[in-house]
Amino acid sequence: MDNIGHAELWNECLEYIQERIPTQTFNTWFEPIKSLSITEKELFLQVPNKFFYDWVVSHYENIIQQSLETTYGDGLKIKYTILMDDEQPQPEKQASGSIPQNPKATPQRDIIVDNSSKIIEKGTKINKNYIFETFVEGKSNQFAKAAAMAVANTPGATSFNPLVLYGGTGLGKTHLVQAIGNEVIKNQSIKSVLYLSSDTFTLDFISAIQKNKSTDFSKYYRNVDMLLIDDIQFFQGKESTQEQFFHIFNSLYQHHKQIVLTTDKNPMELKGLQERLISRFKSGLTVDIQPPDLETRIAILQKKAEREELEIPYDVIELLASKIRSNIRELEGALIRLLAYSSLLRVDINVQLTRKVLNEIVGDSQLESNISYSIENIQEVITGKYNINLDTLVGKSRKKEIAEARMTAMYLARKYTNLSLKSIGLYFGGRDHSTVVHACKWVDDKLDASEEFQKRFEKIKKEFDTTLF
Ligand code: ADP
Ligand code: MG
Repeated sequence: MDNIGHAELWNECLEYIQERIPTQTFNTWFEPIKSLSITEKELFLQVPNKFFYDWVVSHYENIIQQSLETTYGDGLKIKYTILMDDEQPQPEKQASGSIPQNPKATPQRDIIVDNSSKIIEKGTKINKNYIFETFVEGKSNQFAKAAAMAVANTPGATSFNPLVLYGGTGLGKTHLVQAIGNEVIKNQSIKSVLYLSSDTFTLDFISAIQKNKSTDFSKYYRNVDMLLIDDIQFFQGKESTQEQFFHIFNSLYQHHKQIVLTTDKNPMELKGLQERLISRFKSGLTVDIQPPDLETRIAILQKKAEREELEIPYDVIELLASKIRSNIRELEGALIRLLAYSSLLRVDINVQLTRKVLNEIVGDSQLESNISYSIENIQEVITGKYNINLDTLVGKSRKKEIAEARMTAMYLARKYTNLSLKSIGLYFGGRDHSTVVHACKWVDDKLDASEEFQKRFEKIKKEFDTTLF
């Protein structure tokens, strides 16, 4: 059967399944599955990750098999391919067997886009969803995104060459660098893009040496129009790999070919990276990606829910976003787990269920903020400090001092209680959650900008601490 065959067959299976399970379950667990190909004996499907795989196989194997028997007849088996976080290809595996123990052992392969902008795949794909449109912008990443977009639009023609993106795990480096690849493919502005991890580069290099083909190796890389290398921290300490990379880098650079690199640390701080490489990086642009603030985390979850057509209450999104702070991959993982629970226990997604799930991920101590004050405590301290009464504090006055008192109180409530933004708003004269978000931001900004305010704030905090201990 040809390529259309497997897609049609799988679509028929999906129709069968869709009629028999709840829509939300279907959207969660079946939409993300992609059919890849078919042989006489097997239909190959791709699932996003191992957790997903486990879930689908343990819960829906029967119905999948039934759908296959109905639409195709006996004798066809399903084989799954699993994509890991960083899009590492997995050996296919039979639905009934066990998962390979060391999934990371398979090296990531490269992708080349040829003249006609058709993607030639030697292994896995660049993730099609890692595009600029799905990358939520916030203060923490907007510069990185802007630089990535500039480079994608005019590769090699900006002064951002090389562009080095750095930041902690799960903050969107791979997403951005692949978005550059996807955008260039879409625009068809250049002939060939090569995306790979530094590990693949190293492995490729080693294998070239072993086969006595280092000239071919170097020619191959020098011939691309754009080189995207993810996670170059793995070049640390690998002298001869760096040597090779240095020459390839120079050659591409001299021919105005765009180079984009990512790393988990500022390249200046990478130990075991040759000085001359680092000085090459300085000739381009190095941008960091910071952990996203609360609003951005909320926006990321909302966007994700919207894209997957999931109806998730706002309170739940806010709770997830406020408890998982420093890693977007974990944030998305928590959402998947929540969906899994909800479909397993057949209960709605609500705050209570979310707390249970969060408990398993971050543990009790994190979840229940260590110091937890009541909102009344906070309002008391603030009214005392600003010498106003409670009605004034929660009232409508826009006088500068009163507004400051109110916003500071909301900020402290946000920090030291477990109340949601919505509830905090209710305690302050029934204000909207966005007013609370605004207040928190205002205090943060003011703390940065005004030393005077900073002093005032410290005094309040001090009093606040002594009053309450
Ligand atoms: P890194 O490579 O920095 O470890 P990834 O690029 O793999 O991180 O990002 C982890 C996950 O978080 C991915 O699923 C990615 O799509 C998502 N993600 C990260 N940043 C954003 C963002 N700003 N908007 C939307 N999704 C994001
Ligand atoms: Mg990555």
